Amino acid sequence: MEVKQSEFIKSAVTPDQYVEHSSTEVAFLGRSNVGKSSLINSLTNRRKLAKVSNTPGRTRLINFFLINNLFYFVDLPGYGYAKVSKTEKASWGKFIEAYLFNRPQLSKVILLIDSRHKPSVDDVLMYEWIRHYGYEVVLVATKSDKLTKNELAKNNIIIRETLKLTKKDKLLFYSSINKSGRQELLDSIFQTENVKGKEQS
Ligand code: GDP
Repeated sequence: MEVKQSEFIKSAVTPDQYVEHSSTEVAFLGRSNVGKSSLINSLTNRRKLAKVSNTPGRTRLINFFLINNLFYFVDLPGYGYAKVSKTEKASWGKFIEAYLFNRPQLSKVILLIDSRHKPSVDDVLMYEWIRHYGYEVVLVATKSDKLTKNELAKNNIIIRETLKLTKKDKLLFYSSINKSGRQELLDSIFQTENVKGKEQS
């Protein structure tokens, strides 16, 4: 399965601004600077579809992208950037929560964490929160090209322990630079029930 077509549709803040449609959404979530924009660009083979920000914390909107004229990628605001105020952090949490709470179209959340570090308190909370809402989560550890094989193996254990993953919970290592993990992630996205059903029919 491949992304053959991708198109930015709109940015939104509040639920009344979300795109109106009855197909499926796959949402991308992670700390600011985790590599979310780069990952969306590399998945879609587009250099600038999602904006790669040099100033972490700048992307505060929910961005909707139509994929293959079939379903949507939803880029949620990055959380946990240290240099913003507590009030601002709280309002970001509210954006994300409002989306997760109001979105029957959402069928899968791709949660990004940095492969080089132990997941932060925010990462752990976010993971538990999404599970609590009952969504399927695909965990992706970004920037894997920055690690040696040994470091990858070590960090795999640390991340799995910190997030209390069971054997059947998947953790995928990804690099937007050398594209490793890309096909596996696409397969997982295209396995999403509604996407699969519509693609086959
Ligand atoms: P976002 O804030 O989560 O959207 O993160 P960006 O995609 O803007 O990336 C943040 C920084 O990390 C940028 O300087 C990117 O070039 C870098 N980056 C993103 N993905 C990768 C990756 O897979 N490998 C490496 N080495 N750097 C990456």
